[in-house]
Amino acid sequence: MRTVPAASAALCVRCPARPPSAAAWPAVVVAIGAVGALGALATPAGADNATRPSPVVAEAAVAPPAAAPLSKKQAYLEAKKLASGGAPAARLPRVGAPPTKVLSLFNTWTHEWIALDPAGDPAPSLVGRFLRCHFTNEPTEMDRRLARTLLAAARHFAAPRIHIVSGYRHPKYNLMLRKKGHEVARDSQHTHGHAVDFYVPGVSTKALHAWATAQGMGGVGLYVASGFVHMDTGPIRFWGGQ
Ligand SMILES: [Zn+2]
Repeated sequence: MRTVPAASAALCVRCPARPPSAAAWPAVVVAIGAVGALGALATPAGADNATRPSPVVAEAAVAPPAAAPLSKKQAYLEAKKLASGGAPAARLPRVGAPPTKVLSLFNTWTHEWIALDPAGDPAPSLVGRFLRCHFTNEPTEMDRRLARTLLAAARHFAAPRIHIVSGYRHPKYNLMLRKKGHEVARDSQHTHGHAVDFYVPGVSTKALHAWATAQGMGGVGLYVASGFVHMDTGPIRFWGGQ
């Protein structure tokens, strides 16, 4: 039998250790803000939301469009207008609706972000893809109560973002973890798409745990050393605190 890796000491019965945090995420937060602003500018009032950019953030999508260079005559007229106190109205960006407030979710395994409407109910396909098994890359249909709970946590703590430590765990991955000596449950709620491990940056794990326990949704696990909380939609039960 293989020696149990030292990292498994940080594991609890149901969850793997939290992956290393991403050093680069603050830069991506800025990118999400830019997406919101650009989306608001580019979308006319009353336009179908389906025409908005995908909430999955790609760096290339946030580059602002380059302005057309002014001809010599235009530049002269602009300068003349400015000198006389007039505003160069034709060169100003079109005024649109203010950027929508968004909740950013960050997946600490895949380093992907999605931006959600804090008051909305995200599409199951988007949530399933975002919380897919990072080992097999396969999504599943996540219990819709999980995404709603993440949004509720963000509203409660007035948090602009939530970091996901674990979502769906394919049974193959779960079995591999068990074979490697990790103490994960044989029939973990993660393998059914019924569990999520997460933390809220700036909020203590204990405060998040207290809130999670009060929801009465299902299982709640506290992982103080790894700094996250497990929530699932299975039977109500509690563990952790070590
Ligand atoms: Zn878990």
